[in-house]
Amino acid sequence: NYIFKNLWLQVVISLLLGLGVGLVLGDDVGVGLDEDTLSSLSSYLKIPANIFLSIILMIIVPLIFASIVVAITNIGAKEKMKTLGLGIGTYFVITTTISILVAVLLASIIAPGSMLDLTSLQEAHDISEDDLKVTEGFSFEDIPNAVSNIIPRNPISSYLEGQMFSILVMAVIVGLSMAVLPKESTKSLLDLLESIQKITLHILLISMKIVPFAVFGLIIGMVATVGIETMVGLGVYMTTVILGLGIMLLVYAFILKFVAKRPIFSTFSKFRNPQTLAFSTASSMATMPVTLKTAEEDLKIDNRVSKFVIPLGTTINMDGTALYQVIAVFFLAQLFAIELSMISILVIIITSLLASIGTPAVPGAGVIVLSTILITVGIPPVGILLLLSVDRILDMIRTMINVTGDLTASCAFDEITGDKN
Ligand code: ASP
Repeated sequence: NYIFKNLWLQVVISLLLGLGVGLVLGDDVGVGLDEDTLSSLSSYLKIPANIFLSIILMIIVPLIFASIVVAITNIGAKEKMKTLGLGIGTYFVITTTISILVAVLLASIIAPGSMLDLTSLQEAHDISEDDLKVTEGFSFEDIPNAVSNIIPRNPISSYLEGQMFSILVMAVIVGLSMAVLPKESTKSLLDLLESIQKITLHILLISMKIVPFAVFGLIIGMVATVGIETMVGLGVYMTTVILGLGIMLLVYAFILKFVAKRPIFSTFSKFRNPQTLAFSTASSMATMPVTLKTAEEDLKIDNRVSKFVIPLGTTINMDGTALYQVIAVFFLAQLFAIELSMISILVIIITSLLASIGTPAVPGAGVIVLSTILITVGIPPVGILLLLSVDRILDMIRTMINVTGDLTASCAFDEITGDKN
């Protein structure tokens, strides 16, 4: 019953089961099935993973568009909050950008994706050379074209062709316009987008139930064909993400000390309850009531600040998620041997900033929204399936960082606005 209720436990169990079965079937230590049998077996085993991937790609465009528009509209929604909203929006953008830059640095230095052998992996995932060719990153000659095409002329065709970057830009433009217009004139679209958000989120939550089966099938195929070295490569990738998340804690300590003017250690120790809950639920949304309570009761933050910063931060401020997404993109690019030019890196930075704003604060959302960035820079989204098996643990840790970022923001704004009152 306990296992039934806890998705993460199911994922861990299927991961271990898959590992075991994969080892038995592979030739590292097991019986070493011949290649034909193995590949037909693994194409069956991959069915749940492929279904999951299709669902992600089906909902990602409406989900991220609606989430971004709703988030931006809500920042500007409360008349009196406009200046505070602007300040907080800017603060969120700055901290998220810092976490993205940390990710870019770490991923380039450690290069976790270059440890795996591409060819065996390509075989394991049926990725043909052609798939990879069309996906070369941007080059300098592309700049004029790319810049002119940032604003989509034909929104419908951007939608149809899934041009993610244009869709994100459009979401920001629409959101900003809605934020400044009077409420009456935007209400109906806002309602519609909110229901689109709710519906796609529901589909996402339901489809998460497939994940344990997807992981099981994938791991068997991976271990049996690529061998245990895949696991080692994934281990280095995980370590890189965890290291980056650790660095973010230092950034928060710095903000607490110099912006919020609070003692680092005693303040951090008050974060413990929401952090623990974030770690165990992997959802900032589910943690929000406790985050709010901690902000008001333990950190003694002004109600007006906490009631605004915490809910807003929960939905749009996801430093941990942004950091994770960027490292994942680099990892997959290195893995598929896709050269990332300066321009592509710039595109990754901007896209991941927007993507983290559009990521719903629920378990597993980060890895799904990752598809947005992958599509934008031209990395085959099947790469997501590779990351799925170890995603839960990273989700728990990055959610903890997301929540820590929100609490730190509320301390900072308590200090900043406190001076004026
Ligand atoms: N689970 C994260 C959160 O709720 C989002 C993510 O998947 O990165 O904050």
